[in-house]
Amino acid sequence: GWRAVIVGAGMAGVQTAVALREQGWAGEVVLIGAEQHQPYDRPPLSKAVLLGKAEHSAFDVDFEALDVELRLGESASGLDAGRRVVRTQAGEVPYDVLVLATGAEPVALPGSAGVPGVHLLRTLDDAERLRPVLAGRGEIVVVGAGWIGAEFATAAREAGCSVTVVEAADRPLAHALPAEVAAPMADWYESAGVRLLTGTAVARVVDGAVELADGRRLPADAVVVGIGARPATRWLESSAVDLGPDGAVLADARLRTTAPDVYAVGDCASFPSARYGERLLVHHWDNALQGPATVAANIVADSCADPAPVAYDPVPYFWSEQFGRFVQYAGHHGGADELVWRGEPADASWAVCWLRDGALVALLAVGRPRDLTQGRKLIAQGARLDAARAADPAVPLKSA
Ligand code: FAD
Repeated sequence: GWRAVIVGAGMAGVQTAVALREQGWAGEVVLIGAEQHQPYDRPPLSKAVLLGKAEHSAFDVDFEALDVELRLGESASGLDAGRRVVRTQAGEVPYDVLVLATGAEPVALPGSAGVPGVHLLRTLDDAERLRPVLAGRGEIVVVGAGWIGAEFATAAREAGCSVTVVEAADRPLAHALPAEVAAPMADWYESAGVRLLTGTAVARVVDGAVELADGRRLPADAVVVGIGARPATRWLESSAVDLGPDGAVLADARLRTTAPDVYAVGDCASFPSARYGERLLVHHWDNALQGPATVAANIVADSCADPAPVAYDPVPYFWSEQFGRFVQYAGHHGGADELVWRGEPADASWAVCWLRDGALVALLAVGRPRDLTQGRKLIAQGARLDAARAADPAVPLKSA
């Protein structure tokens, strides 16, 4: 019979297994995951699971009922696309169709390896190690004011810790948002009782302290590093699967890789977006939810006599819960797009629209979930917006 092997048992891998069955794949499905835990969802790791409000975030999927062979604690170390085998420590796993879904791995702070008290936040094991740190209500230094840094700082404050966030750029979220939008977010840190130090790099982390490039020394019972993630693709480096300069698997519009019958989805892969006219590497949950349906459809199509290919062209979406605010973003913007404010950044809720040639291409909503829902639809439609009307937060978002 035909055998589909999926490497990586996170959101994208699990959803691919589910989607294959939903779309009628009758062959074998083997799901290989490096972690020992039952496959689980990551967003709660910086929220409810971290705070101990939820014990775990395992997916509610019955693998046995789906006839999916789950191989946990098994790590892929290589791919021979010519012979169609994945190498793991347990031996070779042959495939007819392969899906790469190994996600991303957090970037470590240089020089911090082996220093006691330094943490990353990516896995359930990481979250479990951090729970007692929060319970200790000590002094915590967070390196990086990105999405993870902000969410971790929020949880640590809620737990009663004293928190300092160190950010090399001059504002939070410097890689994600323009200065005009992100700079006001610095106030969120302050209002939550978090000290935010921007424009300062970490020189060295030692046991019990963080030393900054400007000579300051911050005592730290624990250091949490959130300076980014890169695709977990090192095991593919000498394979027939081409990787981009960012380490992402270079998928095509159907999420196929450069090796025959090998697909890639989720945090490990970039894809050409027809909608935005550029290649996107999306490190958010919704992409790991939506991509697998496309992969499964193409796998099923390619195994038919009369294939009907499906292209992946989503409106990217993500959310973040930080400092008591619900932050949502849909679409993708560039530096040249016109920025329209809907409300004031000092308000409890506001939004920002990005227009390209008059059409809505992206939207950031803070505490305005209805704007997000409407905006997401308008972006998908390529709707044009009247900038003056969009600027009035009292008027629902509508196409011009
Ligand atoms: P992953 O979830 O990384 O899963 C990949 C799996 O593959 C892992 O279990 C890994 O162990 C396994 N693996 C890796 N290499 C190998 C190998 N060689 N062999 C076998 N297995 C391997 N997104 C949002 O939109 N909103 C949020 O609020 C949000 N919060 C987040 C909070 C945290 C703490 C984290 C870490 C992420 C958050 N995200 C959020 C991002 C979101 O969780 C990811 O985009 C999503 O998990 C990607 O799914 P994935 O399956 O592609 O990758």
